[in-house]
Amino acid sequence: MNLDLPPQHAGFRDSVREIAQGVALPLAAEVDRDHRFPEEAVKAAAEAGLMGVLIPREYGGAGLDALAFMLCIDELARACASTSVIVDVHTSVGSEPILLFGSDEQKKRWLPRMASGELLGAFALTEPAAGSDAASLQTSARRNGDGYVLNGTKVFITNIGHAGLYIVFARTGPGERAAGVSAFIVPADSPGVKVGQVFKKMGLNGSPTGELVLEDVAVPTANRLGGEGEGFRVAMRALDSGRIGISGQALGIGQAAVDEATALMKRRAKEQVASPHPADSLREWADLPTWWGGQGEEFWLADMSTRTESARMLAYHAAWLCSAGRPFTREASMAKLHCTDTTMQVALDALQLAGEEGALTGSPFERHVRDAKALQIYEGSNQVQRVVIARDILR
Ligand SMILES: Cc1cc2nc3c(=O)[nH]c(=O)nc-3n(C[C@H](O)[C@H](O)[C@H](O)COP(=O)(O)OP(=O)(O)OC[C@H]3O[C@@H](n4cnc5c(N)ncnc54)[C@H](O)[C@@H]3O)c2cc1C
Repeated sequence: MNLDLPPQHAGFRDSVREIAQGVALPLAAEVDRDHRFPEEAVKAAAEAGLMGVLIPREYGGAGLDALAFMLCIDELARACASTSVIVDVHTSVGSEPILLFGSDEQKKRWLPRMASGELLGAFALTEPAAGSDAASLQTSARRNGDGYVLNGTKVFITNIGHAGLYIVFARTGPGERAAGVSAFIVPADSPGVKVGQVFKKMGLNGSPTGELVLEDVAVPTANRLGGEGEGFRVAMRALDSGRIGISGQALGIGQAAVDEATALMKRRAKEQVASPHPADSLREWADLPTWWGGQGEEFWLADMSTRTESARMLAYHAAWLCSAGRPFTREASMAKLHCTDTTMQVALDALQLAGEEGALTGSPFERHVRDAKALQIYEGSNQVQRVVIARDILR
């Protein structure tokens, strides 16, 4: 069994790392502090072809697989979590539904502009009274001649205001709950499409999240994705691969926390030459052997790193299954659940290890903690992942 990354994937990961560390990382603290869209990093990602990682070459994309997509998001998140979620939502739930469910005409019309980054994608499912229970959504799509008229408000929409195109889920028919939902491609410049409140969040501050208001928006039938009543299936399939991206995001943030903790411990080890570590005086006082001391911190680092590596294996497995065209819903949910829970704990442990330095506003340690939290909530909260996994096991 070979668990090495295939050479093509390793090379791709290294090239993304260069952009992420060179362009996104230097901006990370500033976009977090100022709540500003990381324009330069997203532009660099587009120029490197990262906005079209999953889009086939015939539509101007890179034509790579789910594993490459996950590695890309992992590397971006390690540098700047806000940049990673912008690219992630665009690449997976914001454009993959067109790839998976679009007609030839829709693919030709939209995908090349999405692959180049000219059009940023977004996914509009959640409503004020329809979060985990997405099937209860109320946005309506009323038939009108050769098209529909959409009305409703979506909330917590990533890439709000910057997206050129929204994948919108609305109720078309009398069908109950999921059966009455259809999916639509809605260009952001359609009359009646408005940006409502833009939310201030605790983390991922460079990634805009807010309300999408639809007021009598005319959408031609040519912009419906899949058949009438198939929208919920579109959403669930998009979220399956979306969860591979979120796993990558979690791995990146977790690795960044481990990196910071490692640098901190090395720095402290050097400083110790000047002032002894508290463990040294305790050792002398308690007459403990010379090998004792400071291991609490080293063990902590070892545990953080081990947990991150174990989560990585689960994420690679889910991505590999998806790339191989095999069923991967359960594994993607397991990866999302485990990677995001692991990263939340790793980020908290890194901050604890840093002590007062970690608790300062603007320290990377506290940023990683704030950024990690949303990952346990979006693209299906971690409680919902448990429902998905348990149902699949019991089926
Ligand atoms: C930063 C951010 C970005 C987002 N981006 C997008 C986006 O681009 N597009 C989009 O459509 N949505 C987006 N969302 C919305 C996100 O998908 C929802 O927040 C998520 O689905 C949870 O819904 P909710 O917040 O309404 O929680 P609720 O459904 O109200 O749940 C509240 C709590 O109850 C728990 N819970 C719910 N049901 C169960 C159950 N059956 N068993 C046990 N516990 C349960 C949940 O886990 C949660 O902890 C985003 C959210 C955030 C925070």
